[in-house]
Amino acid sequence: MDSVLLLHGGAGSDSALSPILKKYADSAIRERDVLISVVKAVSLMEDDITFNAGTGSCQRLDGTIQMDASVMTAYGMGSVIAIENVKNPVKVALSVMKESPHLIMCGDGAVKFARIMGFPEFDPDTEKAKKQHDRIVHDIMNNNPGGDERIEQFLKIRELSRFLKYGEDTVGAVGRFNGEFAAAVSTGGAAPMLRGRVGDSPLPGCGIYVGKRGAVVATGIGEEIIKRMLCFSVYERIGKAPLHDILREEVENFGDYSVGIIAVDSKTEASYSNRNMATAVSKLPE
Ligand code: ASP
Repeated sequence: MDSVLLLHGGAGSDSALSPILKKYADSAIRERDVLISVVKAVSLMEDDITFNAGTGSCQRLDGTIQMDASVMTAYGMGSVIAIENVKNPVKVALSVMKESPHLIMCGDGAVKFARIMGFPEFDPDTEKAKKQHDRIVHDIMNNNPGGDERIEQFLKIRELSRFLKYGEDTVGAVGRFNGEFAAAVSTGGAAPMLRGRVGDSPLPGCGIYVGKRGAVVATGIGEEIIKRMLCFSVYERIGKAPLHDILREEVENFGDYSVGIIAVDSKTEASYSNRNMATAVSKLPE
């Protein structure tokens, strides 16, 4: 049986980033285990400042950085929600899966768990994130004249987020090695957002789902993805239509909202987005 690894760089990401993803995919596929391989692929993207995950994550409206990540196979999962000051949230999610009695850890508990597991303190903030944050605050103020209460203004942002464009380069990977499936996701979230906001990425069935028939990862406006339980909806349909058609139909349900999906089933792999989306595939024969 063959091995395949499929990566995305976020709904809305520049397709010109695909060759970088290809390099990461070709490196990660050399890992023998499918779970370790998707984690490696995502951690390489977390370490690349270009992407909105790990180093390079976007800021919350209060200027802090909280990150979400998850990993999943047909037999288990691990996820971290709103974790701070770690370099690779996806590796902490793997630790939650493999070395804790839990499936999901959040906030300061997730940070404490990371320290116990030996993940050192790391500040993922960058000039890129600071500049983007300044632009967001400026755009919010410009579109809401007459007020300066940031949070109050933010409550109107749902409208604005339909047409304002910010960094959207969340990362994810799905893989199939010798019939075994795994997926991994990592994000700094969908700016603009409040501190404490949780997106789809760490939630099973929403931003990630893996079962015995395949692996699915989503990217885009988390709130809309959660409402539709997108990854589970895709997974449920695997085998009933060509994979690419399933992805296209599920994305079409999102109207204007930005969304992208990558998936593998027992024979094929597919990606689909209603925005540009950097992707890359790496394959090894039997
Ligand atoms: N889905 C992520 C979130 O809502 C963001 C993204 O994929 O761009 O947190």
